[in-house]
Amino acid sequence: MQLHTYNYTLRFKHPFAIAAGTRNTTNALFVEVSQDGITGYGEAAFPPYLTENAVVAKVFLSSLPLPEKIVPERINDLLEQLFKQSKDYYGALAALDMALHDWWGKKKQIPTHQLFDTSKNLSPLCTYTIGMSTETEMRDKLSGVKSFRLFKLKLGNNSDKSIVKTFCKIRDEENFFDHHKRVFCIDANRAWTDREFALDMMFWLQEQGCVFAEQPMPVNKLDDMARLHEACPLPLILDESIQTFNDIARVDGACSGINIKLVKCGGLYQANKMIADARKRNMKILIGCMSEGSCGAAGASQLSSQADWVDLDGPLLIANDPFKGVNYSEGKIVLNEISGNGIKKF
Ligand code: MG
Repeated sequence: MQLHTYNYTLRFKHPFAIAAGTRNTTNALFVEVSQDGITGYGEAAFPPYLTENAVVAKVFLSSLPLPEKIVPERINDLLEQLFKQSKDYYGALAALDMALHDWWGKKKQIPTHQLFDTSKNLSPLCTYTIGMSTETEMRDKLSGVKSFRLFKLKLGNNSDKSIVKTFCKIRDEENFFDHHKRVFCIDANRAWTDREFALDMMFWLQEQGCVFAEQPMPVNKLDDMARLHEACPLPLILDESIQTFNDIARVDGACSGINIKLVKCGGLYQANKMIADARKRNMKILIGCMSEGSCGAAGASQLSSQADWVDLDGPLLIANDPFKGVNYSEGKIVLNEISGNGIKKF
């Protein structure tokens, strides 16, 4: 097998504002795995709050002991082995895992999602993320994505209630959307440090029609999170509090569900294992992505039929996406039947 890796800067269409700050770009790593005239593609995007970055991820992949030849029947064993060697580099591993799955699907001439359990077919709604915005900015963003049904509002500053009210006001205006009701969820990105405040917000958000709330409190406040979850009227989903398979048992009881992202957990093979374990614990599943383009979102979307919701709108936020192939319709991702992960490089 030949491995080719390169760094790339993804540019946002609009400046992206969350509780941690505002940025215009995200550094990414792209991976290409080639053998037998077939190339598989993978991507990992690295927001600045991660400890891993695109440059060290590239160096790490070049140091991995990879087999000379990919044997499809041994890909899962290979990925299990590589996971043990990839601590602190799960983003790099995710990009490689995605490229291997793309290659594998192409080799078998099937869409990659057929390599996984497709029996559930939950057909989840896909969120469209609205970074912290003024009313004019929000109106502008919403007018470009009128087919979406579920919006994720980024909260975590002192205008949280006004952001939600602004969204509801625009949504409820006659003629802004068609007759389908739009709903929203929120992501506070760890910003609410006081449990009583967080609980008050949860009741208020429920009154506004919020569907679920993501990572309201800091990672180091898991006991507070567990108590919040006990009293919380909304499904509470953890994102930053959970990274890999081994974290699931630790957060069981402190949340209703988890946000699984390939860049955090090490790729499709690991994510699939996490879904199976979380389901046994009656947890909800959100499959998310970093602010990545079509290659990364298409990889994650291969598991979408097993999720309650997906947050795979990255390609819509990116101005210079080097791939295409992720299709949205009626607020959902529609998987295509192209072999592999279903993407094409420009
Ligand atoms: Mg999140």
